[in-house]
Amino acid sequence: MSRIFKELGWFFRKEWYKFLLVLIFTLILTYAVTLPPNYIGNIIDRIVQKDLTKQTAVKLCISMAAASIIIYVTGLIKERCAGKLYHELYYQLKKRFIINIFKQDGDFFEDYHPGDLMNRATGDTWMISHVSTYLLFNFIDTIMMLIISFILMVRLNLSLTLFSIIPLPLITALVMYLRPKIVDNWKQVRVKVSHLNNIAMESVNHVKLVRGFVKEKDDEAKLSANATDVFYTERKAVSMQALFIPSFRMITLISQGIALGYGAYLITHQLDFTVGNLITFNLYLHMFANPLFRLGNQITRFAQSHVSFDRLNEVMDNEPTIIDKPKAIELDGVETIEFRNLSFRYPDDKNYTIEDINLMLRRGETLGIVGKTGSGKTTLVKQLLRSYPITAGSIYINNQIISDYKKESIRRNIAYVPQEHSLFSRTVLENLMLGKSDKTALSLDEAIRLADFEKDLPFLENGLETIVGEAGVTLSGGQKQRLSIARAFLKNADILIFDDSLSAVDGMTEKNIIENLKEYRKDRTNIICSHRLSVIENSDKIIVLDRGKIVEQGTHQELMNNRKWYYEQYLMQQMEVEDET
Ligand code: ADP
Repeated sequence: MSRIFKELGWFFRKEWYKFLLVLIFTLILTYAVTLPPNYIGNIIDRIVQKDLTKQTAVKLCISMAAASIIIYVTGLIKERCAGKLYHELYYQLKKRFIINIFKQDGDFFEDYHPGDLMNRATGDTWMISHVSTYLLFNFIDTIMMLIISFILMVRLNLSLTLFSIIPLPLITALVMYLRPKIVDNWKQVRVKVSHLNNIAMESVNHVKLVRGFVKEKDDEAKLSANATDVFYTERKAVSMQALFIPSFRMITLISQGIALGYGAYLITHQLDFTVGNLITFNLYLHMFANPLFRLGNQITRFAQSHVSFDRLNEVMDNEPTIIDKPKAIELDGVETIEFRNLSFRYPDDKNYTIEDINLMLRRGETLGIVGKTGSGKTTLVKQLLRSYPITAGSIYINNQIISDYKKESIRRNIAYVPQEHSLFSRTVLENLMLGKSDKTALSLDEAIRLADFEKDLPFLENGLETIVGEAGVTLSGGQKQRLSIARAFLKNADILIFDDSLSAVDGMTEKNIIENLKEYRKDRTNIICSHRLSVIENSDKIIVLDRGKIVEQGTHQELMNNRKWYYEQYLMQQMEVEDET
C-alpha cells in the first residue's frame, strides 16, 4: 500500500493542504460521533435515579442537536473536499496515462491491445483514485474511531473492555487468511475482463467480416464462453469477499454478548457501574466493532488496488524504445533522404524483414516501391516514421543521421497515407482538417480536387458535414482512400508517402490523382508503394523489393529493359487492363 502512496507523492505534495483539511474534519467528525452515547447514558441514569429535571433534559437535547449539526456540517465539508481530490486525481492519472500511450512506439501496441488499454485507462485509474482519496479518508476515519472508542470504553471500565474485545483478534486472523486469496481472485477477474473486452471489441469492429463468413454463432459462442468464465471467476471472488461481513458480525455479536453479561454482573454487584454506563459502553462497543466491518472491506479494496496499481504502472513505466537525444534538433524541411545499408527486424522476429537497403532520394524526386505482398514495402517506408528502432545501418536526412532529429519534427515533415484507412467517427470536414498544419498552403477545396474527392461530395447527404464511420454513413473503400489522400495533401509535408493508397480506386481516378500529385508536388519528395505498376511507372526511381531486398532498381524504361520481375508483372497487368476494357 505504501508503494502506491509513494508513487503518488507528486499528487500528495501538490494537494497536501486539502488532505490536511479533510484530516482535520475527519477528526472533528469522529469526535462528534462519540458524543451522543454519553448523553444517552446520562439521560438513562437520571431516569433510573429519578432525578431528571426539565432543565437537564433540555440541556442534553440541545447537546444532542449540536452534535448532530457538527456531524452534518463536518461530514458535508469532508465529503466535498474528498470528492474534489478524487476527481482531480482521477483526471490527472488518466491524462498521464493517455500522454504516456501517445509517446509509445510500434512494439508497445503489439504488446497491449486497445481493449486492455481502455480497461486500464478507466477501471484501474478509477480504482487508484478511489483508494488514494475516499478509501484513504475512510480508513483514517476507521482507525480514529477504533482508537477513540477504545479509549472511551477503557475510561468506563478497563476489565469490561478487555473481556469484551477478547474475540476480536479472530478478525485479524480471518483477514490475514482471506486477504491473499481475495487479491489473487480479483487479479484473475481483471485479467479475464480485459480479455473479454478485447474479444467484444474485435467482434464489434469486424462484425461485417463475421457476418460475411457466417461465423456469428462461433463468435457468439466464444464471447459467451468467455463471459461465463468471467462470471464464475467474479462469483468466486465475490463469495470469498462475502465471507468477511457475516464473520465480523458474528464475532462482534459474541463480543457484545460478553459485554452485556459482564456489564450486568458489574451492575448487580454494585461495582461502580450503572445501567447508563452499560448502554453507553454498548454503544461504544458498537462503534468499535463497526469500523472492524469496514476495516475488512477497506483491506480488501486496498488489496484489489494493488492489482490496478501494477497494471497501471506496467504501462506507465514503459519507456518508448525511441527516445530523442538530449540535443536532438528540429527537422526543418527535407532536401535529401538516404538509406545506407539499412536492415530491420521486428522485435520478435529472428529474420530481417528488410535487408541492406541503399538508396538516395533528392527533393523533387518521386520513388516508386513495388514488390509482392509481404516483400517489405510498408516496413521500409515506416522506417522514416521511426515507429521501431533501426536494427542495422541508418537513414540520413539532409546528410544528418535520422536519430539526431526530434522524432516529432520528422513526423511533422511526413504525410503518410496508410494501407488501412482509418477515419474518425466525425464529419468529413473534421477528418480532412486533421491534415491541416502550419505548412498548409492549399485551400480545402484544392486538396479535395487534387485527391479527386470532389465527385464524391454530391453523394454525401450533408456534404462536408456528413458524419462518417460508426456514427454515420459508411464510405466505400475508394472514398476512404480519396479522403485520406486529400487529408495528406492538406498537410503539405516535404515527404508524401502513399502506402498502396490507390488500391481501391478505379483506373481513371488513379490517373487523375497521380497527375495532380506530379503537378502539385513537383518540388517535394514523394514515395509511392503500390501493387499496380501503372501508379509508379512515371516515378523518377523505382525499386523492386523481394523478401526485403532491392532486386531491381532504375527508371520504368530501365526496368522494362531488364526483362525480369518488373517487366513480366507490367505486361501481365497491361493484359489484365485490356481484358477488362
Ligand atoms: P508489404 O507492404 O510489401 O506487403 P510488409 O512490410 O507489410 O510488406 O510486411 C513484410 C513482412 O513483415 C511480412 O512478412 C509481415 O508479416 C511482416 N510484418 C509486418 N508487420 C509486422 C509486425 N508489426 N510485426 C512482425 N512482423 C511484421
